[in-house]
Amino acid sequence: ERARLARLRHTPAITLDGQRIELHANIELPGDTGPALDAGATGVGLFRSEFLFMNRNGELPSEDEQFEAYRAAVEAMRGMPVTIRTVDVGADKPLDRMSVNELRHEHVLNPSMGLRAIRWSLAEPSMFRQQLRAIYRASAFGHVKLLLPMVAHLSEIRQVQDAIRRVKQQLDDAGQAYGLVELGVMVEVPAAALMLPLLLRHVDFISIGTNDLIQYTLAIDRADEAVAHLYDPWHPAVLHLLASSISQARAAGKGVSVCGEMAGDALFTDLLLGMGLNCFSMHPSQIPSVKQRVLRADTQRLAAAIPRILESEEPGRTALEALASQRLH
Ligand code: PEP
Ligand code: MG
Repeated sequence: ERARLARLRHTPAITLDGQRIELHANIELPGDTGPALDAGATGVGLFRSEFLFMNRNGELPSEDEQFEAYRAAVEAMRGMPVTIRTVDVGADKPLDRMSVNELRHEHVLNPSMGLRAIRWSLAEPSMFRQQLRAIYRASAFGHVKLLLPMVAHLSEIRQVQDAIRRVKQQLDDAGQAYGLVELGVMVEVPAAALMLPLLLRHVDFISIGTNDLIQYTLAIDRADEAVAHLYDPWHPAVLHLLASSISQARAAGKGVSVCGEMAGDALFTDLLLGMGLNCFSMHPSQIPSVKQRVLRADTQRLAAAIPRILESEEPGRTALEALASQRLH
């Protein structure tokens, strides 16, 4: 089994009909690039930078400390893309109490709908510019992509672009090097999926965060056991948002990946391939099982099954039948 997994690591993820599929890793700290490379990841699709900010007894990481962490990840990946997401604090990922109080955000009515993620960053401009400078500085050492969490408004992208212009000017003035950095947004609020053609005009790529997209589409707290049975990736509304987001991004010639849990669950690999997805980002341990699915998939045949699934009143059951009949073993 070990030998088989080792062989699989070096096998490119190419479907039976010759489509090359990127299998990227989700990481929390730079050290996670080790397991990612061991698993055969061809990039980092999601570096959850908030983990550098959590559990620090009230102190936030300095620009230099962040830069060192991003550079370590970028260098470890040796030219492969590293997608760094700006801090996604709030809700299920709280800063510790002291940092939150210092930043005057102690009265949170509903953390998952409050001042979190990009909203928090835009409310803390000097902290945000430090993070942007650290990310841009790391881009001098490899292939960096910048990803914004929880975007729901065009104005958020515009504000970030202004901040980026300012940060680049500061780096130019200080004689500090940086590379080309593509800008992308998470699609994890239904509003973003529903206005995607507008967002796509302003970004280079999107990454679909199914964990939050399901939570906000179905109004189901992703961490609440009492409603866990209603947290349904097969819900027709979720499938429609997924399918339309993937096809609109592709039609616009923009990169699209899925980085929520669905991307790492082999149960959904055929579905996502059929929808046209060619970049999956997941926990490194999930890469081998998803790759095995990819190696046995014919995306043309899977695509033919998608309309029936989207029209079905029981998409989960229809998908199992329709996709299984398209899969070659
Ligand atoms: C998601 O929401 O699907 C996602 C990948 O981000 P996180 O799980 O960090 O919220
Ligand atoms: Mg999310």
